[in-house]
Amino acid sequence: MERTLAIIKPDAVAKRHTGKILEKIEAAGFRLAAMRLMSLSQRDAEGFYAVHRERPFFGSLTAFMSSGPCVVMVLEAPDAIRKWRALMGATDPAKAEAGTIRKEFAESIERNATHGSDAPETAAAEIGYFFAGMELV
Ligand code: GDP
Repeated sequence: MERTLAIIKPDAVAKRHTGKILEKIEAAGFRLAAMRLMSLSQRDAEGFYAVHRERPFFGSLTAFMSSGPCVVMVLEAPDAIRKWRALMGATDPAKAEAGTIRKEFAESIERNATHGSDAPETAAAEIGYFFAGMELV
């Protein structure tokens, strides 16, 4: 069994796509191990995306991520990291395959509806950024 951090980003929450995205997550066989609706401050978003600090879109990305509430979750399944990234689709919705969440719900390469950890080490760090051990059920 593996866990990954997933976020329904502010664009998708504002457009009231939360329920439809959760339905896809559960239909795909993930178990929710933690879930919280929260508003990130710009500083929270900068901490979360610290690896992207030197990228030209860092300011815009962190402003977007702190622009409204998001849903932060821990998903559990066999091969959860790879499986959740496959369900999300490519970062750029123009390149995402049909049937993926980003193809269906993303507005742009930045406002792309969801986040998913990309490796076991980042999943552990990202889960720990948002959730205390006692909050994982
Ligand atoms: P992910 O793992 O698919 O989320 O992609 P990355 O780790 O490469 O990028 C993190 C996030 O930064 C993405 O999900 C997008 O929200 C944003 N992003 C990535 N590439 C670009 C870009 O070229 N321009 C802008 N404005 N945002 C980007």
